[in-house]
Amino acid sequence: MFAKRTKIVATIGPASESPRALRALLSHGMNAARLNMSHGSHEEHALRIQRIREAENEHGAPVPILVDLSGPKIRTGEYVTDRITIVPESTLVLTTVPCTGDESRIYVNYERLASEVAPGTVIMLDDGKKRLEVIRIDGHDITCRVIVGGELKSRRGVNIPGAYLSIETITDKDRSDITFAVSHGADYIALSFVRRAQDVVELKELIREAGGVLPVIAKIETMESIENLDEILAEADGVMVARGDLAIEVPAEMVPIYQKRIIKKANELGKPVIIATQMLESMIHAPIPTRAEVSDIATAVYDGADAVMLSEESALGTYAVEAVATMCRVASTIEHSMQRPTAHPSSVPDSIAESVYHVARDVGAKAIIALTERGVTAQRVARFKPDCPIIALTPHDTVLEKLALVRGVYPFKVEPITDFGSALAKIPAFVRTYGIAEPGDRIAVTAGAKFGASGSTNMLLVLTV
Ligand code: PGA
Ligand code: MN
Repeated sequence: MFAKRTKIVATIGPASESPRALRALLSHGMNAARLNMSHGSHEEHALRIQRIREAENEHGAPVPILVDLSGPKIRTGEYVTDRITIVPESTLVLTTVPCTGDESRIYVNYERLASEVAPGTVIMLDDGKKRLEVIRIDGHDITCRVIVGGELKSRRGVNIPGAYLSIETITDKDRSDITFAVSHGADYIALSFVRRAQDVVELKELIREAGGVLPVIAKIETMESIENLDEILAEADGVMVARGDLAIEVPAEMVPIYQKRIIKKANELGKPVIIATQMLESMIHAPIPTRAEVSDIATAVYDGADAVMLSEESALGTYAVEAVATMCRVASTIEHSMQRPTAHPSSVPDSIAESVYHVARDVGAKAIIALTERGVTAQRVARFKPDCPIIALTPHDTVLEKLALVRGVYPFKVEPITDFGSALAKIPAFVRTYGIAEPGDRIAVTAGAKFGASGSTNMLLVLTV
């Protein structure tokens, strides 16, 4: 359970939905389950949720379920044959009028597409594998020249790199999936093709209307979401670097740059960031990863990702368990190599003293109060030469004399201290009497864990007078 720090999100599908498979994935390091709403019926997903919950109970550690909404993914329609072949240099008409397609004409399910592209616009099909260029628009028909062709199955993804489409981010299908997710006790909802912070706000509103309060993961996979990253991050509870679509919407070589930037910003905000897609693509069909895949997981760990994700590898692949085990092994190895040696070996009293110095400075404390038996606590803090005075409270005359020579320390005699609580209660009046702090000011208080004993500095408290 403590083998690695990086979390593994595994997409659950036909290859991994059996109770036995779920158990195996969990025991090999899976931490969270993703359900992809682009595939499968609500009945199928409901059964998966039930089984994940059963496996979670046995597993003994929480297994959050992330429901991933399709968002405004544009797709081709069906064809007269199971698949068609589009040939480079031929013309292909994309039409927004529903039809059964063939080699020269196919349906695309975004009504306003014809008015939002222009001659010269590049359109990608099949997750970026095929490339078209718009030649002409006539009404609902977009005539394109095929640049990169190949075999095309039905209902493939359509991407228009860099376009600003007026398509709604949250579709009718998403709305019904939100209701499903809330009513089936999902733990996170992810939204595809987020473009603005407003998309996240609207999703949260819909979740509330469905009677839930689930945290939202914004999937960063469009140029617009990169441009609006800060406002999206401010609104979302976490982000996913959805590299499948992102690498089509922006040049693929920009993705590593954006990945680092997104991780850094999410880390600064303390919001989880998931790196997704093709992390172990080759393991859909092979029991071992490529060198490049191992390196990709390592990079995500080095960069500071909270989680790495498996898509088809765990949903449909032959080696789902091996893929999880591989991620686990790579993550833990890289994490170990990253462990920092202690900056300078330090005792508990020394490191508390250093923390007192840092905390007092960071919270703008007006004074550091050291409850000190032999003066050691005050001296330890004094080594760091804080800007604010160190007020040493001690019952012993010899200690008063001793501390009077130490830079930054102002010793005062007090009654013997028997417990922290009653000593603490007297501090506000004390600091006001001596004009050390005013009401509303902060002060840092440090003391040993055992009163009457010395050398046991082990406590730090920030107090507002
Ligand atoms: P998807 O999202 O699998 O839902 O498309 C992930 C991605 O685009 O990388
Ligand atoms: Mn996507």
